[in-house]
Amino acid sequence: MGGTFDPIHHGHLVAASEVAATFGLDQVLFVPTGRPWQKSDKDVSPAEDRYLMTVIATASNPRFSVSRVDVDRPGPTYTRDTLLDLSEQYPEAELFFITGADALSQILSWKGVEEIWDLAHFIGVSRPGHELTATGLPADTVTLLEIPAMAISSTDCRERVTRGLPVWYLVPDGVVQYINKHGLYTPRETEGKGES
Ligand code: ATP
Ligand code: MG
Repeated sequence: MGGTFDPIHHGHLVAASEVAATFGLDQVLFVPTGRPWQKSDKDVSPAEDRYLMTVIATASNPRFSVSRVDVDRPGPTYTRDTLLDLSEQYPEAELFFITGADALSQILSWKGVEEIWDLAHFIGVSRPGHELTATGLPADTVTLLEIPAMAISSTDCRERVTRGLPVWYLVPDGVVQYINKHGLYTPRETEGKGES
């Protein structure tokens, strides 16, 4: 499952669990993006923070783990490179790439889009408020799946933290604590204007 995971939230975890159950997957590998090519650098937390929050959120589930392939590869993250790296690391595995409805609709603009269809099955998961369509996508490799209503987004979680609102129960407890400990999503005081 690819994502920015800034931060990872229960919508991601429910989606992963649903897809795993529906398709009988042995493992779900969460793959935080390095530098997402759709989002500019300054809008995204450091890859290491997003990686660690993903590790914390998935640690208790024996079928969930986290991959560093995208975090460790320099330059912007392209799904084609992710899938090539993973098929090299897991030559025996049948790969399913799980992504959201919004990402699926951008799929045709992906670099190397012609060759990705051979590398994995694609599962597009829906979030309330996002229409699922697969127009123009190869039906034999793309499956769309409705996830039980979890209208959570990372954007909303970040905004809540910035405004001092709680994110308890939207993200796992350990992720709340990580966010607080590292002061994520809280604007830094500008120099010379220090007050608390
Ligand atoms: P942001 O608000 O920063 O874009 P996000 O909540 O969409 O974050 P991503 O890290 O972009 O999270 O998510 C990875 C994938 O998971 C996306 O393709 C997204 O559509 C999907 N996803 C996110 N939240 C949910 C949810 N609540 N239910 C189903 N799918 C989701
Ligand atoms: Mg998103």
